[in-house]
Amino acid sequence: MEGNEQRKITIGHLYPDLLNLYGDRGNIACLMQRCKWRGIEAETIEFELNDEIDFTKLDIVLLGGGSDREQMIVCQKLKSIQKDFKDYVEDGGVVIAVCGGYQLLGKYYRTEDGIIEGLDLVDLYTEQEEGRLIDNIVLKSDLFDLPVVGFENHGGRTYINGNKPFGKVLYGSGNDGKSGYEGVVYKNVIGTYLHGPLLPKNPQVSDYLIARALERKYGDDSLIPLDDSQEISANQYIYDRFVKKA
Ligand code: GLN
Repeated sequence: MEGNEQRKITIGHLYPDLLNLYGDRGNIACLMQRCKWRGIEAETIEFELNDEIDFTKLDIVLLGGGSDREQMIVCQKLKSIQKDFKDYVEDGGVVIAVCGGYQLLGKYYRTEDGIIEGLDLVDLYTEQEEGRLIDNIVLKSDLFDLPVVGFENHGGRTYINGNKPFGKVLYGSGNDGKSGYEGVVYKNVIGTYLHGPLLPKNPQVSDYLIARALERKYGDDSLIPLDDSQEISANQYIYDRFVKKA
């Protein structure tokens, strides 16, 4: 670890009391620990629905997954943060949005009970369709050498209107079960259906987020390599089990 490390990142966790499915909070623990191992200071601020959010103080924002009911509650708040959140994204702010959080990045999520309006940060929309897409999932993303592995469980199908997908589906359903693609990448925003939580088994995704945040804040995205043998073997296990056997 470098003795002269001075960099620090602040992670904003939006609405963990509502958007908290399938261990998405574990993504925060992973980001914090990977910074700590490198001597990079990291802090997480959790925001509840009525808290003020100063996006200018944040380097990474995490939006987790939620049930339709919870997403409906959150959506009523989104209008008041939309402008500041949009400015943050357009300025290269880093966002990792999972499942329900991914859907909320878009214009809307139409359910049989009504329309959940989103943040309109990325040009995409979600329609609830027959049946839920539930299974392990494996992607190949051109951002990483390792496959990206996780678990998906969603009733919504997301249409990304020509935006860049996060990855190509090697196993599982992805955005809509038909296109063969999963998630979205827009500027420094990643939206994805992958729970698990996503980051512990995908160390390259974690480091991508940390590096983008450091680059934006300090113009220096250098990261000391870590011993990722355990993370890689977990990733490899899922890949072998669901993709290689085919
Ligand atoms: N409620 C959304 C859906 O069913 C998102 C679910 C989730 O976050 N896992 O599509």
